[in-house]
Amino acid sequence: MHSIIKNFLVFFLVFLIIAGFLSAFNNPWEQEQETGFGDMVSSIKSGEVESIGVEGNILYVKYNDGSNKKSRKEDGESLAGLLKFYGVSDEQIANVSIESKDPSGAGFWIGAIVPFLIPLLFIVFFIWFMMRQVQGANNKAMMFGQSTAREEKPEKDGKKKKITTFTDVAGSVEAKQELVEIVEFLKQPQKFQKLGARIPKGVLLVGPPGTGKTLLAKAVSGEARVPFFHMSGSEFVEMFVGVGASRVRDLFKRAKKSAPAIVFIDELDAVGRQRGTGLGGSHDEREQTLNQILVEMDGFDSDTNVIIIAATNRPDVLDPALLRPGRFDRRVEIDLPDIKERDAILKLHAKDKPLAQDVDLRAIAERTPGFSGADLYNILNEAAILTARQNESKIRQDSIAKSIEKVMLGPERRSWILNKKEKKITAYHEAGHALVAHLLEEADPIHKISIVSRGRSGGYTLKLPTEEKRFHSRKEFLADLAVLLAGHAVEKKIFKDITTGASSDLKKATNLARQMVTEYGMSEKLGTRTFGDKDELVFLGREFGEQRDYGEKYAQLIDEEISRLLDEAYLRANKTLDGAQEKLEKIVSVLLEKETIEKNEFEELMA
Ligand code: ADP
Ligand code: MG
Ligand code: ZN
Repeated sequence: MHSIIKNFLVFFLVFLIIAGFLSAFNNPWEQEQETGFGDMVSSIKSGEVESIGVEGNILYVKYNDGSNKKSRKEDGESLAGLLKFYGVSDEQIANVSIESKDPSGAGFWIGAIVPFLIPLLFIVFFIWFMMRQVQGANNKAMMFGQSTAREEKPEKDGKKKKITTFTDVAGSVEAKQELVEIVEFLKQPQKFQKLGARIPKGVLLVGPPGTGKTLLAKAVSGEARVPFFHMSGSEFVEMFVGVGASRVRDLFKRAKKSAPAIVFIDELDAVGRQRGTGLGGSHDEREQTLNQILVEMDGFDSDTNVIIIAATNRPDVLDPALLRPGRFDRRVEIDLPDIKERDAILKLHAKDKPLAQDVDLRAIAERTPGFSGADLYNILNEAAILTARQNESKIRQDSIAKSIEKVMLGPERRSWILNKKEKKITAYHEAGHALVAHLLEEADPIHKISIVSRGRSGGYTLKLPTEEKRFHSRKEFLADLAVLLAGHAVEKKIFKDITTGASSDLKKATNLARQMVTEYGMSEKLGTRTFGDKDELVFLGREFGEQRDYGEKYAQLIDEEISRLLDEAYLRANKTLDGAQEKLEKIVSVLLEKETIEKNEFEELMA
């Protein structure tokens, strides 16, 4: 806002200067000297005038000595008549050649119009400039309802761009199978229409972030060789009510014009949230936008070959109207990749990267449960960057392993030096985690222990499941709680004091215990039910918006149960540690010496 006012002032000043300039010279294009009519008459009488050009009321007087002057006559009177009136004799008039010029000459018009035109041009320029300013301020206020969708054509200007196809998507076999059908609809709609089949209008891709939803949608358009209109749900919603709706209209109009085509709406949940639950200010706007999407989808003729693909990771919050038949009735689920798929994704992205002999992508896939396709891509990318920075020509396995930790835990901070005491505390703390995890059967095995700080933590202990897990059991969670609290327990035991280093462990443990009680029904006392409904008020932020669907009595019980779980886990950790004092010291001494212990080394140590 400030800059707009400043600009306005600058323009105003410039405008004033120009206006002043113009009025001073009135007509800066004709700088001939003027002479009064009477003076001219006396010049004619004394025979000094050679000729007079008449242009409207302006007289261009040419003197015998070669000079030129300008004069004016009265409106509507003829020059000859006026001269006679001023007492110029016929002979004297005859000595002067009088020629009348057409007043519509270009010069005349320029002279007449330019003084008006210049300020006008300035005003227009000023308004244009202001508009640009407003847009620059990211309001897009002047573009209101135009859709900002990006269009990707399969082939641009004859030269081929790289087309995304299904071969660029590793894994996700079921999803691809579903989508092959969509490709066929786009390619040969007649085949289906002949049989009276209704071609689906909407496909909903559901899956966690980074699992390749956008990639799949692009691949569908690439396979079918149709244009791809990409827009994110949040882009519809602007500060003005009605903008989103008109953007939707515009987007669909564009898509229909270039049918067959794909419209991809990313983050559909940003606009497609259940209506009637909103408290936020943009709530009306979102409803209107959503309504417009529904209207557009219903308004398609069966022969309009536009298919809408939408992506979301929150299908549970979508408005049911979106999921009705005839709208997004096809649903394609995309999961986090399992080990085979991770292997395939890694292979795909490793294709254009030079790998050293020792690289074992399968081992990398084993180490990365829960990673999305985007994470895996990121790992290989980080590894390539690391390799380049070390001036090596091939990516080695340990660079990839380092990247995994970087992606998981943030970059190493070797410069964040711990003093001797802190280092010792960290070593005991991490050794405590590792030892308890090792000794409790249900806990995942240790992959790596380190006291090199990373991100915010002083050190870290990495444990990974031996095989892919989709479910977790109560026993596992109880073991996890004990492992989480083990760091804290060791500190207290050895140093008779606690540091702030354990705070994030406590937080994690408390959250886990709360989830066990309120979400998973894992407390005997409270029984098999859930507490709190989180989905209703998602937009207020997760925990904050939790809606209580239980009474005071239960609230207290929940707190008690959480505390009990944590207390028991703490006791268990202590007990486990008590029996293995020797092993603890062993781990600590190796950690203090080498700073990191890898899986194999750790197992040898424990054997
Ligand atoms: P989403 O839209 O689900 O959040 P994206 O489609 O944007 O995920 O995926 C981001 C990147 O991750 C892709 O550009 C691709 O490089 C990589 N990726 C994700 N899933 C896969 C997969 N199945 N095969 C290959 N690459 C993948
Ligand atoms: Mg995406
Ligand atoms: Zn810890």
